[in-house]
Amino acid sequence: MPAAPSAFEVVLADLDEQGLRRRRRSVRRLSHDTAEIELDGTRCIDFCSNDYLGLSAHPRVTEAFIEAARLHGVGARASHLITGHQGEHDALEEELAAFTGRERVLLFSTGYMANLGLGTALVRKGGAVFGDRLNHASLIDAGRIARAAIEHYPHGDAATLERQLAAQTPGALVLTDGVFSMDGDLAPLPAIASACARHGAFLAVDDAHGLGVLGETGAGTLEHFGLTAREVPALVGTLGKAFGSFGAFVAGDADLVETLIQRARTYIYTTALPVAVAAATRAALAVSISESWRRTRVLSLTRRFRKLGAEAGLPLADSETPIQPILLGTADAAVTASARLLERGHYVAAIRPPTVPAGSSRLRIALSAAHRDADVESLVTCLAEILNGK
Ligand SMILES: *Cc1c(COP(=O)(O)O)cnc(C)c1O
Repeated sequence: MPAAPSAFEVVLADLDEQGLRRRRRSVRRLSHDTAEIELDGTRCIDFCSNDYLGLSAHPRVTEAFIEAARLHGVGARASHLITGHQGEHDALEEELAAFTGRERVLLFSTGYMANLGLGTALVRKGGAVFGDRLNHASLIDAGRIARAAIEHYPHGDAATLERQLAAQTPGALVLTDGVFSMDGDLAPLPAIASACARHGAFLAVDDAHGLGVLGETGAGTLEHFGLTAREVPALVGTLGKAFGSFGAFVAGDADLVETLIQRARTYIYTTALPVAVAAATRAALAVSISESWRRTRVLSLTRRFRKLGAEAGLPLADSETPIQPILLGTADAAVTASARLLERGHYVAAIRPPTVPAGSSRLRIALSAAHRDADVESLVTCLAEILNGK
């Protein structure tokens, strides 16, 4: 008699059947200043990474990393509140505070942990949390881990948020992405911030994809909209995207940061970020400022992609950021298009449920200052051929 399938086998077979089984690929970078990679041994151009400014292998960033590792070693050896917190962390926090125009910054090991930390520090059990329906998973989990009473408003719908807040006693927490990670569009932050101000809610914006890319100086979505620290009291930034490094931070006033130090469990109970990572991030921040052409470059490539894509009749989305989704509907359509693009030397991942809502599977293109004009041109040509069934 054949053995009954295990519970794991049932779950995995179900994912296979729905076309939702995720698969890891092994990547090897082929160059420091282009997007050429080998994917499971196949040479291609990477259009999936969040390295918007092309800083992840910048010589100054790698040098800073190596130099700091020589001096301080690899591991931080303890949490920030024991012996893990060092001078490089202080310096990075101060520089990020200056860059974002905030009183203080607190480093976290990842963006996921920064968001969970906000949840555990700021929300009591049963407390009111409101979030955009398309928020990043880590913001959704921030409410869950705090055992908050979470309500989601329709994507980008500040008017519904306003009604929800009006029915609530003051003191709610509102969480939103600045740039939505799978759609590339911006949250209507001015309207959200004024709704929060009118109803005594505390607003936290996760600007993982806006930081370093948007705004006059690259300070992100808040700078793009001209919003002040008073209007958006908590800002979450990640360091593994435009800054090409690793880690994350929350920026705000001194009381917010002190509260996080006391109460954010994902800050207190984990090993500090390696010192060399902090040093590399300081270098990346400095390069992002001194080589501001990188920001101009990725934004001009984005406009070029959209112009060529519109001419080729691609189903472009309403995004002016380097995140350019091509909505295809079914998971199967997205997976097939991704495979055909890879055959032609372009790697664009298919994004399927549960990362995006059912029926909105897509190709998610992420542009970078490391892309060449020719990379973008051939991507559009291949996409048009594949979507037109050639
Ligand atoms: C990537 C991302 C995170 C998580 O950041 P990590 O540092 O990778 O953990 C959080 N929020 C948003 C919106 C993101 O895109």
